[in-house]
Amino acid sequence: MQIPAIFFDGEHARDNQVTLRLEANDLVFSGPDVSETRWSVAGLHPIDPPTAGQPFRITHDGKVGARLVIRDQAFIDELVRRNKDLKGGYSWKHVRDVAVWTVGGLAALGVIGYVVMSLLPQQVAYVLPEEWRNRVGNQVVRSLVDNKQACTSAAGQAAISKMLSVLANGNPDMPPVSVAIYDLKLVNAFAAPGGKIVFTSGILKEAAGPDEIAGVLAHEIGHVAYRHPEAQMVRLAGLQVLISVFTGTGGGDLTTNLAALAALLRYSRDAERQADAYARKTMVAASVDPTGLRRFFEKLLKIEGSKPAADQAAAKPSTLDRIGNVFSTHPGTEDRIKQIEPLPAGMTPVQILTPEEWKALQNICGT
Ligand SMILES: [Zn+2]
Repeated sequence: MQIPAIFFDGEHARDNQVTLRLEANDLVFSGPDVSETRWSVAGLHPIDPPTAGQPFRITHDGKVGARLVIRDQAFIDELVRRNKDLKGGYSWKHVRDVAVWTVGGLAALGVIGYVVMSLLPQQVAYVLPEEWRNRVGNQVVRSLVDNKQACTSAAGQAAISKMLSVLANGNPDMPPVSVAIYDLKLVNAFAAPGGKIVFTSGILKEAAGPDEIAGVLAHEIGHVAYRHPEAQMVRLAGLQVLISVFTGTGGGDLTTNLAALAALLRYSRDAERQADAYARKTMVAASVDPTGLRRFFEKLLKIEGSKPAADQAAAKPSTLDRIGNVFSTHPGTEDRIKQIEPLPAGMTPVQILTPEEWKALQNICGT
């Protein structure tokens, strides 16, 4: 039996007239523009189930996209008699092909995801879900402070809340943050994903007054506003971040590995400049004198020069000790100091904390 049919090769939109015949276990066809082709009957499957009076469309293993359109009912019946799978409309082979295509699609999504994650970490940082930011932020903080409990004296917490509300004055778009203080000698402060800002008790002891700490806090809020911690996470972990977003799992290696944590906390000079500019704008709007921050940086620079490895010499250095102080995690200090200017002429700096409140903040860890 030899019948006319139409063949699409799956690559060109053009239809081709072919002649079709059954030969042993093969379907054989050829036409003016189609060289002789053999499709095994066992490898055929239907695109739709055969319907009486409708042209029957079939394809073949490994020829995804290529198809034959057959109108001859007797021929269709004979094909279905020889290959029962053709009756169903779906066969396991079809399912397998769909699976292959789906996996291929997922792989393509993975490639797109990879490109997005590697070229646009800053943009990705802005669309990460809150739930992820909080979950991973908590993990990062826990790892950095070796699961220590935050210091929670009521007076100390009231003081940090007051400092935040002073900074929020004139800054209605300040992002929500939470500030936790940990009993660590090291002089440092950092921001983790989810607006989680950490101060060590060491940095509170080192500061001469609340204006110095308010400046550091404003700088860290700048990192939060620009989502620098999240962007750094995307930059370092790439697709792992997406996987953890969708699977609800943690940051994995990134939040438990010392080198990765150190890299996570170390921003580019551009990011530091952005956070500094944010801090300046915020402080001026809130009438907080930015020279406190400058004084503090200058002092830290001197300390850094005189006893660089003091903290690392501790008997049992904490994770944060091993990562380093505020200079290791906020590079480019000297040129940054020069950028910090006092309040514009005529502005009176606000009192951030009373002397008692400042004392309470410095002693929040009870020592
Ligand atoms: Zn910084």
